[in-house]
Amino acid sequence: MNAPNERPPAHDGRDAALRVRAQRVIPGGMYGHQRAQLFPTNYPQFLESGSGALIRDVDGREFVDFLCGYGPIVLGYGHAAVEAAAAAQRSKADCQNLPSARVVELAEMMVGLTGHADWAMFAKNGTDGTTTALTIARAATGKSVILVERNSYHGAAPWCTPGLEGVTSADRANIRYFDYNDLPSLATARDEAADDLAGIIITPFKHNDGVDQEDIHPAFARELRRLCDSDGAVLILDDVRAGMRLHHGSSWETFDVQPDISVWGKAIANGYPLSAILGRQSLREAAAAVFSTGTYWYAAVPMAASLATIRAIEDEDAIGAMARAGLRFKEGLTKQATSHGFDVSYTGPVQMPYMRFLGEHGENLNYKFAAHALDHGVYLHPRHNWFVSAAHSDAIIDRALEGTDHALAALARDAAP
Ligand code: PMP
Repeated sequence: MNAPNERPPAHDGRDAALRVRAQRVIPGGMYGHQRAQLFPTNYPQFLESGSGALIRDVDGREFVDFLCGYGPIVLGYGHAAVEAAAAAQRSKADCQNLPSARVVELAEMMVGLTGHADWAMFAKNGTDGTTTALTIARAATGKSVILVERNSYHGAAPWCTPGLEGVTSADRANIRYFDYNDLPSLATARDEAADDLAGIIITPFKHNDGVDQEDIHPAFARELRRLCDSDGAVLILDDVRAGMRLHHGSSWETFDVQPDISVWGKAIANGYPLSAILGRQSLREAAAAVFSTGTYWYAAVPMAASLATIRAIEDEDAIGAMARAGLRFKEGLTKQATSHGFDVSYTGPVQMPYMRFLGEHGENLNYKFAAHALDHGVYLHPRHNWFVSAAHSDAIIDRALEGTDHALAALARDAAP
């Protein structure tokens, strides 16, 4: 997919040279969602550094970052307490034959702040977590079928990757699909599972690419719970993207429906590689029976970073800070959009919003707006929800809003006859 933006790259130094080298030794020049081809053409392919809410590309351009590494950066890049904890652990050891005491401390901490969970396991990526959760659900129930929301992202394993190259029908044989908040489609998927329903996986709210975000309807969540209870199936909350940004706990911590398993990643370790699978007492035996492991899953540095991150989220009221920063950005940006004559939707929690230009040319405007914003020092994503961190101070948000105002003015000039 190429971005419909014909402007030449604004950068022609190190980034361009690295792209040429990458083309020779990296398939496609880059792979997955971090390919520059998915962005407007003035976006960099390579970044050099990050500090607080700011990132710098390899050509020295600085941006206010609203992608936060696709979510992990919850306290800002280079957060002092997190880096100190990681450095202290690194001075002892990281990857060894056996786990460190950090794994027990972190399991205790996460179980302690999550109402539904009695145990925790750790892995690296969110995909490890969601895939392991499915395996535990199948081990616990002795059944096979998992119901999955049609357009939700749960990772890049064959059972869930949005790209179908190399995926076989056998990889998806035990997956059935429904639509978010759509009870009839859920009933159909459930019927297709017949007496073989092992579980249902759901994101805490709808945060699919390129469409408005949506809260889960309480009635829909209750139906997910009811179906799992009536079939003895496992309700899995995929909180990889949102976990620890909305609550100091799971994104459903204060909701009246609770999952059996929750899967976490991203924000739990402020950028260090770590994911977590938390579950109920009734699934403990199945979780212990599943052979789930990885060479680096027990590494101590990310766990030390996670302990410090989760502590700092509470001590520094990071959730409150993100909510305030997110609201300031939403209010400023939606006001600017209106004053420049654009019709937009701005959806999702303010800590992880998505703004969409409405109308026939909406998608094109999204790309063009992101391109102009980048030219004015603001790094947004044209299709994916954005992220705010606790390092997005009022001054940073105001600096970003100055950039977006220029970007919207430029976009209005583009659109003028
Ligand atoms: N689930 C959700 C909801 C996600 O947003 C993501 C990553 N964007 C994943 C799972 C997979 O996580 P990872 O990329 O760390 O494998």
